[in-house]
Amino acid sequence: MKSFCFRSFPISILGNQPDPVQAILHNFFGYDHFRGFQREVIDHILAGNDALVLMPTGGGKSLCYQIPSLLRGGVGIVVSPLIALMQDQVNALKQNGIRAAFINSSQESHEVGAVIQAVRQGAIDLLYVAPERLLMDHFLDLLSTLPIALFAIDEAHCVSQWGHDFRPHYLGLSLLSERFPQVPRIAVTATADEPTRQEIIQRLQLQEAQLFVAGFDRPNIRYHVVPKNSPKQQLLKFINAEHAGESGIVYCLSRKRVEETAEWLTEQGWNALPYHAGLDKKTRQHHQDRFLREEGVVIVATIAFGMGIDKPDVRFVAHLDLPKNLESYYQETGRAGRDGLSSNAFLTFGMEDIAMLSSFIDQSAAEEAVKKVERRKLNAIIEFCELASCRRQSLMHYFGDQYAQHTCGNCDNCLSPVETWDGLEVAQKALSCVYRTGQRFGAVYLTDVLLGVVNDRIIQFGHKEVSTFGIGKELTRTVWRSVFRQLVGAGYLSVDLVGHNGLRLTEKSRAILRGEIPVRFRKDPVKPVGCTTRRTRKKVAKGTGKPARFKQDKNQALWDALRSMRTQLANEQGIPAYMIFPDRTLEDLVETRPRTLQALGDIYGIGVNKQKKYGQAILKVLTA
Ligand code: ADP
Ligand code: ZN
Repeated sequence: MKSFCFRSFPISILGNQPDPVQAILHNFFGYDHFRGFQREVIDHILAGNDALVLMPTGGGKSLCYQIPSLLRGGVGIVVSPLIALMQDQVNALKQNGIRAAFINSSQESHEVGAVIQAVRQGAIDLLYVAPERLLMDHFLDLLSTLPIALFAIDEAHCVSQWGHDFRPHYLGLSLLSERFPQVPRIAVTATADEPTRQEIIQRLQLQEAQLFVAGFDRPNIRYHVVPKNSPKQQLLKFINAEHAGESGIVYCLSRKRVEETAEWLTEQGWNALPYHAGLDKKTRQHHQDRFLREEGVVIVATIAFGMGIDKPDVRFVAHLDLPKNLESYYQETGRAGRDGLSSNAFLTFGMEDIAMLSSFIDQSAAEEAVKKVERRKLNAIIEFCELASCRRQSLMHYFGDQYAQHTCGNCDNCLSPVETWDGLEVAQKALSCVYRTGQRFGAVYLTDVLLGVVNDRIIQFGHKEVSTFGIGKELTRTVWRSVFRQLVGAGYLSVDLVGHNGLRLTEKSRAILRGEIPVRFRKDPVKPVGCTTRRTRKKVAKGTGKPARFKQDKNQALWDALRSMRTQLANEQGIPAYMIFPDRTLEDLVETRPRTLQALGDIYGIGVNKQKKYGQAILKVLTA
C-alpha cells in the first residue's frame, strides 16, 4: 500500500457534502454523475494503487487522475506528449478554479522558474510536463524533494514501439516506479489492442496495476458510409442538411485535395480552412487556433491534423478518402462528439481508394511482414465499408469489444436497412472476366469488357475476343463498380498492384465460380445521395448552429444571446468558447432557465468557480 493522505479543502469548496469525491465533481467540474468506472478508478488511486485505464476518446479519462490529484496531498504530475495541448488543458482547469500549470519547451526559462517556484510552495495541484523534461536529472531531483500526489501517464500507448505514436522518451518512464515507489501511477490511453496493452504494462512496470477497460463504443457517433460519386457534393449535401453553422473536420488524402475542398466549401458559404504539412507552421497554427476558438469552423485536413485536438464540440468528421485502416478511421472519427452530444462520421468510399491505398503499401519500403499486416488491415476497412449490417457491431467486433447487440439503431445500415440482391451469376461473370483477362486489370477496364465496349486498349490486349466480352450488359457501369468493390470487400478479389492496379482471384473465389455458395450484394442508394437517412436527432437551421429542438423563437433567441455572451467572454480572455461553457451547458440553461445564482450551481458544467465568475452575466441574459 502506498502513501495515503487527504488534502484538506476549505469548507466552501467541499460544501457540506459527506463524500469529498462527489463534492469535487460537483463543485469544481459542475457535473453530478461519474461516467462508467471513473469513480472506481478514482477510489483505487486514492487508496494509493496503480492503474491502467483504457477508455475511448471523450470517455473522461482526465477526471480519473485530476480528482485524485486534488484530493491527495502534493502535486499531481501529468506526463503528456502533446506540448501544444498543455496550455489548453491548463486553461480549462483554471476556468474551474483548479491550480494547474505546465512546463515544456515552449516556455522561456523565467516562466519555467516561476512555475517551479509555485510548485515548491505547494501552490500547484496539477503539473503537466513533457516526458523529456520529467526525465531530466535536475527535474527528478526536484520531484524527490516534493510531496507528489500521483503520476498520470497520458497517451500511454506512446510507449509502444509498434504503435503509430511512438515517443522514445516514454521508454524512460519506467524509472518512475523505481524512483518513486510510494507514488501511485495511472496510465491512460484510448488505444487498447492486446499487444499494445501488454507493451504498456511491461514497459511502464505496471504489472501490479489494476486494469480498467471501458467499452470502446461511442454511442453518440452515427456512422455513414456512402459510395463515392462526387465526394465534395456529397459532403456538402450532408453537412448542409445536418450541420449548418457547426464545426467539423474533413479528411482528404492529399494536400491538393485539401486545398481544393477548403476553397470550394468556402465558396459554398462555409467557414472552411485547410490544414496540411505543406502549409507553413504559422498558417497551420493560425488555422488550428481558429478552429479551436471560433464557432462553426470546418477544418479540411490531411491526417496530419488532429492528434490531441481536444475540442469537445466537433459535430462531424468526414472522410472524403478512405483511411488506411479501421484503427485510423476509429481514431479520427472519435474526434467527433467528445461532449457526448450526437455527432456524425461520414465517409465516401470508392474503388479508386482501394487502388491508391494498395499501391501505397506495395511501394513502401517496409518489410514484407509489415506489408502483409497492412494489407490485412486495408481489407478489413474495405469490408467495413461494404457491410450490409450494423457498422457499430462490426467495429466493436474488430476491436475485440463485447457488443451483444446486432443492431445499434444509430448507423446508416440500422436506420435504413440495406436491400440486397442475389448476385451469384453476376459474381461469376465478374470473376471469370478477371480470370480470362489475365488477372491484371482494374475494375474500370473489366467493366468495359463486361459491357462490350470497344476501345483502343481492349483491341490492343485482344480482349474483344474473350468469352466474357459483352456478357454484362444487363447492369449499368455504376452497379458493376459496386459489384467489384463488394467482391474486393468480401475477399473474393484482391487488389494486386504489381504493375497495373489489377484485380486477382483469391482462395475464396473458387467457391463462387463453382456456384457452391450464395452471394448477395448490397444495393447502393438509387440516387447518389450524401446522406442515407433522413431521421436525424437534431435538425439544425441553416447558418445559425442552433439545435432545431428549440422550436419556439423565445428559446432560439435565448440560445443566440447565450452563445454571443459566451463568445464575448471567450474573446476577452483569448480562450476557446467551449472552455467558458460547452454547448451542453447552454442547452441546459435554455431548458431550465435558472433564476438564481444558487440554481446555476446545478447546471451541467457550472462549478463553484464558473458560478462566481460568470453567474451574474448569465443571469442577466436569462432575465433580459
Ligand atoms: P478523454 O481524455 O477520455 O478523451 P476527457 O477527459 O477530455 O476525455 O473528457 C471528455 C469530456 O467529457 C470533457 O469535456 C469532460 O469534462 C467531460 N466529462 C468527463 N467526465 C464527465 C462526467 N462524469 N460528467 C460529465 N462530463 C464529463
Ligand atoms: Zn448499427
